[in-house]
Amino acid sequence: MEIERTVAGLRRVVAGWRAAGLRVGLTPTMGALHAGHLSLVRVARAQADRVVATIFVNPTQFGPGEDLAAYPRDEAADAAMLAGAGCDLLFAPTPEAMYPPGFATEVRVTGLTDVLCGARRPGHFDGVAQVVTKYLNQAAADVAVFGEKDWQQLAVIRRLARDLDIPTEVLGAPIVREPDGLAMSSRNRYLCADERGKAAAISRLMREVIGRLRDGALAGPEEERLAAALAAAGVDRVDYAEIRAGADLERRVGPAREGDRVFVAAFLGRARLIDNMGIWE
Ligand code: AMP
Repeated sequence: MEIERTVAGLRRVVAGWRAAGLRVGLTPTMGALHAGHLSLVRVARAQADRVVATIFVNPTQFGPGEDLAAYPRDEAADAAMLAGAGCDLLFAPTPEAMYPPGFATEVRVTGLTDVLCGARRPGHFDGVAQVVTKYLNQAAADVAVFGEKDWQQLAVIRRLARDLDIPTEVLGAPIVREPDGLAMSSRNRYLCADERGKAAAISRLMREVIGRLRDGALAGPEEERLAAALAAAGVDRVDYAEIRAGADLERRVGPAREGDRVFVAAFLGRARLIDNMGIWE
């Protein structure tokens, strides 16, 4: 597996592949890789002849007081995992290569970013939209794969690719979970043993809510019940526990409808964990 650190280097390799008639897949990450990331590489591999993974802890998507400095970084281990999963090229740029002096361009997707993580992390999705627009332009891939773990992010990326006429096809890949149901996340590394034990309650309680919604329970009261159950299970702070339409993130109040999902963000110690599940998936 090759490693490139400049946009020009990335473009040179991809141009060679395209000249040979090969299809190119892209999977952006922030590193600290786990089996969830590798599943994206495999989905890309199934869709393309060559796969580019990116590792870049994008500073513009972190707010003041968030975990930018502490975010886990281990490029050597990540590179070995990517090579094992069939990745052909690792693009691991420096912050200067991504944001040269004088960088002044913002990308904002409105509406979709007003709720859930967008409401709790001001500016977060502006940073995501900015860096992902750059990746899509840099790699000029045929297909780019993002995890459903970050459902709102996936919706934002689909919208920006459509709105800005970016020709890369955006694909979602299912959430990969630990055996006890916890959604895999780089931030799970922050959990101590006690917190890790409690973290399993998030997906378990979400599944319980889904069972009741399928039986006709109303979304509004179920949101309150879920937040209370998460607190009772030892979660330090519930950021949100909401039921929304998967496509446009419209809030559901009454009975759940086709395509609706349960969304949770919760703090355990210093880890902010997010999860989501389709009600009829
Ligand atoms: P991150 O490194 O956390 O920015 O994530 C990079 C990509 O991996 C994003 O598209 C995430 O949605 C995806 N991802 C992270 N965790 C998982 C998971 N447990 N299952 C599937 N995809 C994931």
